[in-house]
Amino acid sequence: MKACRIAGCSRPAKGKDVRCAAHQTAHRRHGDALQKGVKAVELEPLKREIKSILGGQKDWSGKAVVGQLWAGVVDQARLTLDEYHEQGKALPSWKVKAAQTLSNLSKDVLAEDILVTVASLYLYRELRPERFVSDRAFVFQVVRRVRNMTLTSRGSWFDPASGKTKHCYDTPREKEVMALAQILGATFGGLGLAIAKAAMKHREQKQQLVRATKEAIMEIVQR
Ligand SMILES: [Zn+2]
Repeated sequence: MKACRIAGCSRPAKGKDVRCAAHQTAHRRHGDALQKGVKAVELEPLKREIKSILGGQKDWSGKAVVGQLWAGVVDQARLTLDEYHEQGKALPSWKVKAAQTLSNLSKDVLAEDILVTVASLYLYRELRPERFVSDRAFVFQVVRRVRNMTLTSRGSWFDPASGKTKHCYDTPREKEVMALAQILGATFGGLGLAIAKAAMKHREQKQQLVRATKEAIMEIVQR
């Protein structure tokens, strides 16, 4: 039996694939066999940081711009769903699913919240580039984190054994991920990246102030 081709993995390759089952799943879910999913809790502090920056920019035109861009995306998605469900137009399933995801998102979240999520991922990549094994893996994480902002992207069921409601996030097909990546990138990418850069600048300014304080202390102590 052939071994998984991922370096350091000793599990057997599954079926006709060159990877083991676990690395196959990671590749499908995260865009790369070696990418570990970015969890919501990892982004929480960064989201707070970004919200505080945006809170101080009440009149920033980007908020209105992103709202308009997103409204256009949602209109297009609803049109696609209408063509498929009402007019019976033949469309590839990934296109319909991507449109459904965008439509679900529009019911549950605001454009600005999606922008914060996208910006937090750009900021995370600035701070910890090693957390993303490739550009492709980064894009998969953006889609995954945004997709999971809507409750309707997950199936829920009641588990009588544990007495709890369990959630299962389905893994979208690669074509759906890529379609969503392209749309989210065009809508939130430029502004999200700019916000991440602004956040980095804020951090630098804070650090400079800490250094200046230390210098001022030394100055007066040594006088
Ligand atoms: Zn493996």
